Amino acid sequence: MSTETQAQYQFIDKIIQHHLGENTEVKDLEFFYGGNFNLAVRVQLKNADEYFIKWNQGDHQGLFDAEAKNLDLIGKTSSISVPSVMGTGTMEEKEYLMMECIPSGEKAANYWVDFGEKLARLHKNTAENGHGLDYTNYIGAAPQINTWNQNGIAFFIEHRLRNQLARAIYDRKIDAELEAKFETLFEKLPSLLPNEKSALIHGDLWSGNAMTNPQGLITLVDPACYYGFREAELAFTTMFGGFDESFYEAYNANFPIEKGFHERIPLYNLYPLLVHVNLFGEGYLPAVKKIVDSY
Ligand code: ADP
Repeated sequence: MSTETQAQYQFIDKIIQHHLGENTEVKDLEFFYGGNFNLAVRVQLKNADEYFIKWNQGDHQGLFDAEAKNLDLIGKTSSISVPSVMGTGTMEEKEYLMMECIPSGEKAANYWVDFGEKLARLHKNTAENGHGLDYTNYIGAAPQINTWNQNGIAFFIEHRLRNQLARAIYDRKIDAELEAKFETLFEKLPSLLPNEKSALIHGDLWSGNAMTNPQGLITLVDPACYYGFREAELAFTTMFGGFDESFYEAYNANFPIEKGFHERIPLYNLYPLLVHVNLFGEGYLPAVKKIVDSY
């Protein structure tokens, strides 16, 4: 075992013992290098129990506390399965999140229909305060400001689009011409989007965050949740593809989507696209420009 691996075993051991007591022994570790900035490991104990631990170098303060709150919030709705949280903390100056491990299963025949029904159930959770959340959380490595607003469109413009736009302008990725086009679009948005009441959404719903549990059904991981537009969530699922048509049919049968949704998809996806511009670079900018130019 290399010194680095040994150090990682000791690090994981300490977390396990902190949460489960000293008589627990780690049998096996399986590391995940998801390409993101977080590291993750699936831990198997001698008694066969399994846990999943994520950590980073401590440069995104509060990220895992927020992720734990996100998981608990979705879990409390009893609408869709998420891993239960064992705890968060700081070990060797690294922040971590320890949770239930979800072993991967094979998709059951009703996977997509069940998923669509459960997501509709999640989205039926709304908030009296309107759109927002009680705390700041993260989408990937980008902070999400969630200051409540009764007006969903105002929330979407201010805390989703304008917030990311400001960062991209600051980083000189977006010039004055594109900024001006965004401002024109913001004026039009109230006539382009249905100002629905807020829905609790997962917030980062691409296929990588939709796991298949041992029952063959959906378990969601890595939420960036808030009370917002459910259409934004559905639009997000189309960004990288992979969701079956029966998922959308089941969703719509349980919580019908307003007419014209397909034309609105690009508008909602400006948010994740701007996040991608900020986190991963200007390769995503042509897609942003194309959408802004078309309205
Ligand atoms: P990141 O925040 O770095 O994007 P994710 O939470 O998306 O990390 O996890 C990366 C991958 O690890 C997921 O795509 C999934 O395959 C796996 N994973 C995440 N959470 C669990 C879990 N609780 N149990 C088992 N595997 C998990």
